[in-house]
Amino acid sequence: MKFISFVVDGRPSWGQVDGDVITDFGASLTDCPTMVDAIRKGLGAGLSLPGDAPKLPLSRVALTVPIPNPPKILCVGRNYVDHVAEGSNKELPKHPGLFARTVKSLTPHGGPIMRPKASDNLDFEGELAVIIGKSGRAVPKETALSHVFGYACFNDATLRDFQEKYSALVGKNFPFTGGFGPWVVTADEIPDPNADLSLTTRLNGEVMQHSQTGKMIFDVATIIAFVSVFTELEPGDILLTGTPEGIGRARNPPVWMKPGDTVEVEIDRIGTLRNVITQEA
Ligand code: MG
Repeated sequence: MKFISFVVDGRPSWGQVDGDVITDFGASLTDCPTMVDAIRKGLGAGLSLPGDAPKLPLSRVALTVPIPNPPKILCVGRNYVDHVAEGSNKELPKHPGLFARTVKSLTPHGGPIMRPKASDNLDFEGELAVIIGKSGRAVPKETALSHVFGYACFNDATLRDFQEKYSALVGKNFPFTGGFGPWVVTADEIPDPNADLSLTTRLNGEVMQHSQTGKMIFDVATIIAFVSVFTELEPGDILLTGTPEGIGRARNPPVWMKPGDTVEVEIDRIGTLRNVITQEA
């Protein structure tokens, strides 16, 4: 199943998308105004969905990010061998290297990725996003995937000069830089997220990154187990799993995204996230 979040007639809601039709569960489940509320109550894990929820054409709604209110957004950097090799620090990581994003850095499918006034070093990073469904601490790797609600496409767009001069947290938290969507595909459709989903990033139609999720240094189960050692997993948490090789920074000359460019992140069995670059006013 695919779940989206959206605004219709000024009302934020969420629902299931099937082709061009949305079932507006936010309109009928009054105790679940957001998808995260429904995940807390067992969406995808036993929550019964009303059969009489209103249907809407997809074209009538404005998509928002699928999870507009995540408890936290934790991101792994340097998680593909060939991406580590194209960076300045070529030593393979011994544990997942983490930074955080804030909600204000997110932008939905079809929304802008904003190039800030402060920098033109705007780079793309296609990634698999993991949405947590079940809370937990000190989760063993063997059962870690049972804590996943679903998966989505993410573009961890980065102001590379700010990342290099200050930190990943600074370079990756400019407003409207984290493309996220279009929807969340539930975990039952992707039993093993590292059993080689193809991940492709295109800039203006040209393939810039093409890899497989099986090439992660730390797989999704390992990341979940690691994170849950120091913090509580909560329903709606977003975990980013790192980008493969091919980033704009590593090219000669470097490729930066410019206003008017279209960037896409496509992942097998999930879909395609599309954003257009805009200049901050
Ligand atoms: Mg990244």
